[in-house]
Amino acid sequence: SAKPLDGRVAVIVGASSGIGEAAAEHLAWLGAKVAVVARREGRLEDLVTRIEKNGGSAMGIAADVTHADRLREVADTVEEELGGADLLFNNAGVMLPAPIEELRTDQWQHQIDLNITGLMNAIGAFVPQLVRTAAERGVADLVNTASIAAHNIFPNFAVYCGTKAYVTQLSRNLRTELGAKQVRVSAISPGTVGTELQSHVTDDGAREWLDSSKQTMEWLTPQDIAQIVGFIATLPPRANLQEVIVMPTGQP
Ligand code: NDP
Repeated sequence: SAKPLDGRVAVIVGASSGIGEAAAEHLAWLGAKVAVVARREGRLEDLVTRIEKNGGSAMGIAADVTHADRLREVADTVEEELGGADLLFNNAGVMLPAPIEELRTDQWQHQIDLNITGLMNAIGAFVPQLVRTAAERGVADLVNTASIAAHNIFPNFAVYCGTKAYVTQLSRNLRTELGAKQVRVSAISPGTVGTELQSHVTDDGAREWLDSSKQTMEWLTPQDIAQIVGFIATLPPRANLQEVIVMPTGQP
């Protein structure tokens, strides 16, 4: 039977865990052919197997998005194997809060390299495909993962918040360029989602602050965000959800 995303090709960057993994499963379930990208090859293989078991179509491509050349190879593979992407879920990211005075310059750079430069590498690699497939198929989607951190104030999260404000402002501006070519640009800005994101935090204070929030609210799940990606992609081609802010009900 016909599915809402039949005939569409989705690339999910940062698909080996958390939000990206759930989005890949959901988009495949909606009928898209998915290409899943991240560094951990074994995790991608398990995901592809699971999607195929559920009747979907998937391929895994191991890549580090901070390397622009590698991303262009990934885009070439998607072009050759799947005929070009008409949906990019640009979702790889890392959150490393710490007081600025600790001068964790390595962690500042890591967040900038992945959340900003990695995001741009994927845009650079896939925008030509999105523009071409939009012309051929009537619509394409560029969905960037931002965060509530782009809007609200979180002490000790300044660098992360800065990278995510970049993502929302970039997205708002890009949609005026690409919308004219029938490429919809969206940003998804979630509050706290239970994923591996929190496990990379090294600062004890930030870790405790995150953990203690579980007592006052139920965190969102990756599946909650996956539903939103599916909703964005299945809207009529004339409708572009510019930004979705989705919070745990109990998060202020
Ligand atoms: P996860 O840590 O579970 O997922 C991060 C994904 O990014 C993984 O698939 C990881 O795969 C991938 N990734 C990391 N580094 C690279 C790299 N150099 N090259 C390619 N892929 C990479 O966390 P989430 O699912 O929570 O994070 C997804 C996005 O959601 C991020 O942009 C995050 O900032 C954002 N977000 C998360 C929120 C939350 O509370 N969880 C709230 C708001 C936004 P691998 O390690 O295999 O490369």
